[in-house]
Formats: sequence, C-alpha cells, structure tokens
Amino acid sequence: MGNPETSTGSANINSSATSPFSLRVIPRDQHNISRKDISPNALRVLYRLRDSGFGAYLVGGAVRDLLVGGSPKDFDVATDATPEQVKALFRNCRLIGRRFRLAHVVFGREIIEVATFRANSDDGSGDREMENGMLVRDNVYGSIEDDAVRRDFTCNALYYAIEDFSVRDYTGGFEDVQARLMKLIGDPEQRYREDPVRMLRAVRLAAKLGFQIEDATAEPLPRLASLLGEAAPARLFEEVLKLFLSGHGVASFEGLERYGLLDVMFPESAAALRSNRSGALRRMVIEGLRNTDLRVANDEPVSPSFLFALLLWPAFCRALATLQKQGVALEEAQRRAADRVTLHQLTTIALPRRFSLPMQEIWLLQGRFSSRQRKRVIRTLTHPRFRAAFDFLALRQVASSEHAADVEFWREAQLQSGPELDSTLDAAHAEAELDENGAPRKRRRRRRRPGGAAGE
Ligand code: ATP
Ligand code: MG
Repeated sequence: MGNPETSTGSANINSSATSPFSLRVIPRDQHNISRKDISPNALRVLYRLRDSGFGAYLVGGAVRDLLVGGSPKDFDVATDATPEQVKALFRNCRLIGRRFRLAHVVFGREIIEVATFRANSDDGSGDREMENGMLVRDNVYGSIEDDAVRRDFTCNALYYAIEDFSVRDYTGGFEDVQARLMKLIGDPEQRYREDPVRMLRAVRLAAKLGFQIEDATAEPLPRLASLLGEAAPARLFEEVLKLFLSGHGVASFEGLERYGLLDVMFPESAAALRSNRSGALRRMVIEGLRNTDLRVANDEPVSPSFLFALLLWPAFCRALATLQKQGVALEEAQRRAADRVTLHQLTTIALPRRFSLPMQEIWLLQGRFSSRQRKRVIRTLTHPRFRAAFDFLALRQVASSEHAADVEFWREAQLQSGPELDSTLDAAHAEAELDENGAPRKRRRRRRRPGGAAGE
C-alpha cells in the first residue's frame, strides 16, 4: 500500500478515515509510460474528455502492460463523465451493456471503451445487485478511488492521467508491478466469492505477465476452486480462449493444475491425466500447448477446435477405453466417447457447436489414419479437417511411438499427386504383404488399438 515515507507526492484523499487506501502519484519522470506507446485513438478520446472538463485516464490492463514493457491489445479509458455525457462528445459512440453500462467509441476496427467511475458499495438504488454473494449488476457511479478499489488486482487498478501524464495509484499496484506480484484488492476470499472468474484471471495474468501470485491471493484458490463451477459457461469459454490462445498456454495450464482449477474446468481430463501413470498424456498436452504458444508468437493462426481437441483428448481416450471394455465396437465407441465427453464438458464450459463439431472430427479422423485402402485414403485426404487431424496425429507421437509409420505415410501422401499416390499406396500394400525378412506374409487381420488411445 502507498507508504507516505517512500511514495512520491503522496496525499491522503480519503473521505473515510477507515479506508486503507491512499493516493500515490507517480510523476512522468518516474515511470516509463510514453504517449508514443498509446493508441492515437485512445489519446484522442482522452484529450477530448479533458478538454470538455472531465477527468480522463487510461486504466486497467493497458497501464499494467505498458509498465512491464508490453504492448496492450486494447486501451480502456475511465472518466467521471456519465455514459450519456460521453455519447454527447463523440459522434462515433454507442452505449452498451446492462451489467456494466459502457460507452464504446468506434474508430474503424479499433474500439476505445470508456467507463464511468464505479463504486463497489450498494447505495440501495438497485443499480447494484448481488445473487448468492455474486455480483450480477454493477452500475453505481463513484469517485476514481471507488473505481480503483472495486477492480480485481492491484496491478489492474492503476490510472494514467492525461492531464499531467502521471500514474495514480490507490492500492499499491505500482509497487506490486515492480515486484511482479498479483495481489487481490481487499479480502481475497470475499473477492473470489463475488466473482469466481477472478480465480482464472489470477492464473491467466500471472502466466501472461510472468508474475507470482502473492500468498494471501493464492491461498484460497484450491479451497474455493469449486465455485468456478457456478460461473456462466459462456464466460468460462471466453476465459479458456484467453488462457490458452494468447501465447502463454503452457504457463496457464501449469497454473490451473497447481491451484486445483483444472479439476473444475476440465474434470474428466484432469481425472484421466491423474490415472495415466506414465505421464504420456500430460506430455502430449504440454507439447501441444507449447506448439500453440509458438504459433501465437509467430502470428500464425490457432483454432479453438484444435485447442479443445487437445485439452479433452485425455477424457476422450478414457471414455473410449471404458466403452471398449464394455464390448462396444471401435467405430461406435469412438462416436459415443466423442459425444459423451462433449456433452459432459458443456455443463461447465459453453463450447459452441462450430468448434465442438470440428473437435470431434479431429478425434474421429485419428481412427482412419491406419487405413491404406485407396478409397479411404482419398476420403481422409480430402476431409476438410484433414490438416488439423494430421497435426494432431503428429502430436500424439509425443505420447506414443506407435504412430511413427502413419505420420510418415500421411506426410508423404498429402504432398503427392494422384499417380504418385497410387504408387505409394501400391508400395504400402506390398510392404504389408511382406514380413520383416521380406518374405510374403500370411494374411492376418490385425486390429489396431482405438487410435492408440488405450495405450496412451
Ligand atoms: P487483458 O485484456 O490483458 O486480458 P485486462 O486486465 O485488461 O487483461 P479485461 O478483461 O480487459 O482484462 O478488464 C479490464 C479491467 O477491468 C481490468 O484490468 C480490471 O481492472 C477490471 N476487471 C476486469 N475483470 C474484472 C473482475 N472480474 N473483477 C474486477 N475487476 C475486473
Ligand atoms: Mg483488457
């Protein structure tokens, strides 16, 4: 917290003597935030507000990211102007939201979000609603200090003032950023109960920023993890994309595991990973996430379908093994396992069909890769999900070497023209007819394991 002895330009502006928060102003020459790193559109909004007599601040993730030398993906503005006053200032402005009423100022593809300072306290007006300790409506306006303390982490509650280019800190966030600490504002348990998604945000932002989660902020996580099961499935879906498709998926996964959140988010996969003694499945998941992180770093596209195929693969393998033990035939078992795992997962995370269907196709195609029958090979090669499924097959080598020959075959096959492919298929066929010593093999029907699933 802002210590008057060590802070620069400290001034206690609290109206209430019991408030533990005091303002620390970090002047321009003592921080690294430069206007050249701020989006010109955000600057336009800030200046227009200030010139109209309103307070205008850059806030939240953008300030935090700029302080650690990162490049923010969006710039949020906070002000004492009401949404209607903001709308009156900008022609390109629309008001949105019910839970949070916000102004969006639209510049082509860039949207600058402008939020009016909000208070954390209930003024009895019905503008703030709680249900079972959870916040469902939050529209009470307040002072900048009120606005700071209702935010989640201290590093997210810093304000860059356009009037003097200083950073305003009410919660000790500036020091925490320097110390690279995630620290919840207020009582951690109460803040997690108000909004369990904050647990995921703690893990995600720590992973993204390379911060430690401070002890008091970390302590309740395993204890309260199950509350996440009550969060809105659509919101959890969005959080999963941010956790795993923003370039820090491996660190996010390790964080979720460490704090017991994986068991709530992906219960069946977590159980399957735990019972997989060799650790092969976990190695595969980590390797897949590492690839994804690399792709993000290289600005290559990544897909939610592939991500979920990966995260739920342990659950799929387990469900498949169970069904096969019950005597269900392979293809039928694969279909049922895919449906079952998808259905169960939907109770926590709202995975839209446009992603769950391709995810299932990636799984089901795994069962086709052992076939060398011409017709089937062509059908597999021309399947719209072939490329993703093939990448997935290659990834499975991390867990089991049994796919090496298949990977080789399909790597070649997809590069070949029709006639070339014909001769490859003939060769594959001939090879299948010879034994290790090159002698003609007696025909035998070998049943492949279910996409290698049980073995992994
Ligand atoms: P990023 O955009 O990098 O994912 P962010 O911190 O900007 O991270 P947003 O979801 O864009 O995350 O939220 C913007 C700001 O709103 C946060 O910095 C924080 O101050 C506040 N905030 C977001 N979610 C919550 C929450 N669940 N509880 C309290 N404050 C929140
Ligand atoms: Mg943001």
